[in-house]
Amino acid sequence: MAQKKNKKNTKTIPLLPLRGIVVFPNMILHFDVGRPRSIKALEEAMMEEQKIFLAAQKDPALEEPGQEDVYTIGTTAKIKQLLRLPGDTIRVLVEGLERSEILEYTSEDPYYEVKIKEHSSKKLLAKDPETEALVRLVISHFEDYAKLTNRISRDTTFSLSTVEDYSRLSDVIAANMVLKLEQKQSILSEISPKKRLEKLLDILVKEIEILEVEENINNKVRKQIDKSQREYYLREQLKAIQDELGGDGQQHDDETYEYREKILSLNLPEEAENKALKEVDRLSRMHPSSAESGVIRTYLDWVISLPWNEKTQENFDIENAERILEEDHYGLTKVKERMIEYLAISKLRNGIHGQIICLAGPPGVGKTSIVRSIAKALNRNYVRMSLGGVRDEAEIRGHRRTYVGAMPGRIITAIKQAGSKNPLILLDEIDKMSNDFRGDPAAAMLEVLDTEQNKEFRDHYLDMPFDLSDVMFITTANNKGAIPRPLLDRMEVIDISGYVEEEKVQIAIRHLIPKQVKTHGLKSREIRFDEEAVRDVINYYTREAGVRNLEREIATICRKVAKLIVSAERKSASITRNTLGNYLGTKKYLFDKANEKDETGIARGLAWTPVGGDTLSIEVNLMPGDGALELTGQLGDIMKESAKIARSYVRSIAEMIGIEKDFYRKYDMHIHVPEGAIPKDGPSAGITLATAMISALTQIPVKRNVAMTGEITLRGKVLPIGGLKEKVIAAHRAGIDTVLFPMENQRDTEEIPENVLERLTMIPVASMCQVMKHALTRFPESKDEVKPEEDNEVSQLSAQQAQNEAAVSIEQ
Ligand code: ADP
Repeated sequence: MAQKKNKKNTKTIPLLPLRGIVVFPNMILHFDVGRPRSIKALEEAMMEEQKIFLAAQKDPALEEPGQEDVYTIGTTAKIKQLLRLPGDTIRVLVEGLERSEILEYTSEDPYYEVKIKEHSSKKLLAKDPETEALVRLVISHFEDYAKLTNRISRDTTFSLSTVEDYSRLSDVIAANMVLKLEQKQSILSEISPKKRLEKLLDILVKEIEILEVEENINNKVRKQIDKSQREYYLREQLKAIQDELGGDGQQHDDETYEYREKILSLNLPEEAENKALKEVDRLSRMHPSSAESGVIRTYLDWVISLPWNEKTQENFDIENAERILEEDHYGLTKVKERMIEYLAISKLRNGIHGQIICLAGPPGVGKTSIVRSIAKALNRNYVRMSLGGVRDEAEIRGHRRTYVGAMPGRIITAIKQAGSKNPLILLDEIDKMSNDFRGDPAAAMLEVLDTEQNKEFRDHYLDMPFDLSDVMFITTANNKGAIPRPLLDRMEVIDISGYVEEEKVQIAIRHLIPKQVKTHGLKSREIRFDEEAVRDVINYYTREAGVRNLEREIATICRKVAKLIVSAERKSASITRNTLGNYLGTKKYLFDKANEKDETGIARGLAWTPVGGDTLSIEVNLMPGDGALELTGQLGDIMKESAKIARSYVRSIAEMIGIEKDFYRKYDMHIHVPEGAIPKDGPSAGITLATAMISALTQIPVKRNVAMTGEITLRGKVLPIGGLKEKVIAAHRAGIDTVLFPMENQRDTEEIPENVLERLTMIPVASMCQVMKHALTRFPESKDEVKPEEDNEVSQLSAQQAQNEAAVSIEQ
């Protein structure tokens, strides 16, 4: 049916009822058309001016809307394109033209045809300030709306500001908004442009409000989800990453589970347990192959490996202990006795008690090996820990874990090595510990050894307390004088001085030889040592207080014999004085024997060294000069002072012993103590220095078989000295038969082995006068018959008297 132009602004035109959409003027859009009546309308329109009237159905669901079901206000539109889709559907592209109103339905079949009136938008809205304000409000609200919905492009909002035709503005905005059908229709239905803007503003305000509320709710929900599920997501992500990286996530879980179980089963002290479990937690959150997790694993392995509750059953059986100590070591009576006492006390108290024992003595005297036997006797695990050269506190107590490559200190390492919390730990060479800028290891040791503090010993690395109160500590030292004072105060020192020849022979025959023979796989019938040969090894191949080198020489002999037997050169070997050289070569040491004859200006002193005693001869030469005193032979300050004291004393008695009064002005005196390369110090050479001087000045020879030791005062008194036993043993070894020693040292003679005493004459002396009597071949006489004054206590004695007196005092 043809479109008819009727009155002004009215026309008859096919109607296409729209479902769910409202088309505004100037809007281009496409939609699909499927209903036959609508298709007919389209076809009709296409035959004419391609114009069609688009009005929305009130209820989009209606398939066959009646006149009353369609809004009366709609938009005329130009059909720009038609596209036939499969299944009788047409896609149509239209452009909205004018807002129009249905005046009446002119036909219903085969399509709706309506008579409409156009409300042209061409009428420009008056640009008064009120309108202007309204327009601005609308635009700014729309911008807010656009931001909130996030669905409208910036271009659209921007283009609005260029719309000049305010009556069009509301249509453009409404078309771009997501609104309900009724709302859109209400805008379209408003003919007055100004009212339309107002209505739109109203809708915009409401929509914005709703959107804001919506966003708030959204945020809240998101936050809640975030909180409760973020971790979950992260964990899942982590797992996925771990799977990607090698799929050891499960293994990791198993590992942390095992650590946790192990820690719980160890029954650790509370603090330690909490700390260890915390570390397991950290580990479980870490990637299994990260460097940090490796550090934690090492730490946990340390914690787990420590014997937190393991103990060996201590054996308090005294007879058994006595037997073991006796079996393993010859002599060492004091140590053995002390150990038995310790056992008895422990048995009574049912646990160990505080005092730390320190075995002090030269190397090779069996300190280490007797401690091993003690551990065996007590049934404690044995660990030796050398402290020689330890300078850093961290070596004792470990490094904090913040250090790269940190490790526990030696104490904790020793505990781990022991495998029980009540081991016997030997702290070897405690005198060799030194300190520097890295801290004082002695202070750390002090804490370790203090039974009050060591219950809660804290290693820096472990950073948890470990109970050391069940540990038995025994220390050793070569030189007890070098032990830091506070440590020494805490220890009970047992001196083990060197062995004499006889003891060494016994040790060799009873222990060292059987041990070495066994070690070298020899049978006892294949090798035989003569006692004389052993004695020669001791005297000519070793020079030591202990038996370490002796053992080494015996090992050398065994090795050579083993070689002979293996190469079938011999079936057995007998080591005698004559064959010894074949195994050990020429003699290494010749004895510093007593002088061949009595000599003037040479006296023999006795010295103590960390490796035992030694003899030293002191030589004095006089030369015409002006009284200079020269001292050579690497003498220490104290020894130099002794020399000066001795000279002053000699000056003070010069006349009495027939020496020129002004000898010290006429002669230079040179004192030398061979061997020059070995440093010597100490006051105990005082009487020897004086004797050598007097002999040189009086030209009276010193007896060849006398040695002496003692400090001298300016008045010629003899003061006590240390290390008498070692000195006497050395004198005995050198073939000396008379030893002069300070009266006040008489108590110390008890320590000297009997077989040594048997062969020596020990003469206690209290003054230089007595020394002169015994040391010189004759007593120096004054030319004027003046005798030297003696101390009140010491009456003048003839040489013979003094000798008798000494003999008595030794016998007691
Ligand atoms: P130290 O620790 O005092 O330096 P060691 O304990 O290492 O000395 O002893 C060195 C060697 O001498 C060891 O083989 C030891 O068994 C042995 N030894 C030392 N003294 C005796 C002794 N009295 N009885 C048996 N063997 C001994």
